[in-house]
Amino acid sequence: MRKSVIQRAARLAIDYVVGDVCVLCQLPITPHQWRDPLTLNGHMCPYCRTVVALNPNSCQHCALPLPNGQRICGRCITAPLVDMALAPVLHQHCGAYLVHQLKFSRGEREALALASFLLTAVHQHYPDTNALPDLLIPVPIAPWTQLRRGYNPSDWLADTLHKQLNVTVANDLLTRRGGPSQRTLTRQQRLRLAKNTFALKRKVAPRALDFQHVAIIDDVLTTGATVAVLARTLRRAGAVRVDVWCATRA
Ligand SMILES: [Zn+2]
Ligand SMILES: [Zn+2]
Repeated sequence: MRKSVIQRAARLAIDYVVGDVCVLCQLPITPHQWRDPLTLNGHMCPYCRTVVALNPNSCQHCALPLPNGQRICGRCITAPLVDMALAPVLHQHCGAYLVHQLKFSRGEREALALASFLLTAVHQHYPDTNALPDLLIPVPIAPWTQLRRGYNPSDWLADTLHKQLNVTVANDLLTRRGGPSQRTLTRQQRLRLAKNTFALKRKVAPRALDFQHVAIIDDVLTTGATVAVLARTLRRAGAVRVDVWCATRA
């Protein structure tokens, strides 16, 4: 905690002295380059913006990168993960670095940088504001992880998206059962572990999401096991359409 306070103070001091700096190359950027995260770069200089590996042609249901011209992956033909999946950045090099900073170094600027890619993707895939989801649902983290880390990275992404899109964030609906870190597990192991991972909070009505269109918000989409289980929980609570917006795709 102390280290993070020192890091934030150091960044504020750098901001004060040299202005904003790029989250990737650390060079100063002028205010007009990042003031509007919707059209520009959210704490990222124009050059670094071009070197981030993107995921422009991906499965519409699980965001798996696909060859040009293909719209749905083999698995989603029979069992689509969700109704629509966006993951605009590949989880490698710069994209993986940004997510790592967001998750483990209180990367508020990195959250904004990643959200700016998501915003671009949202504007490309939703024709107008009427087509946007009714609710954004950040993937909850286990209570112990939340306590240790002090924040949920998905909340930060959702907050930025909420400010730009004016879609409500619902981060008080679900609980997540604690368990071992999933980072080293296979898809099968994750699926076995994840079955009862999420539940509606006791105070929430069983059909609280009746007829709602919701979007799950997360930092990285890896095997899809977490999203699959969460989507099932949301549909049981009445959601009629579940999308997923993840910053990066592993
Ligand atoms: Zn840069
Ligand atoms: Zn797919």
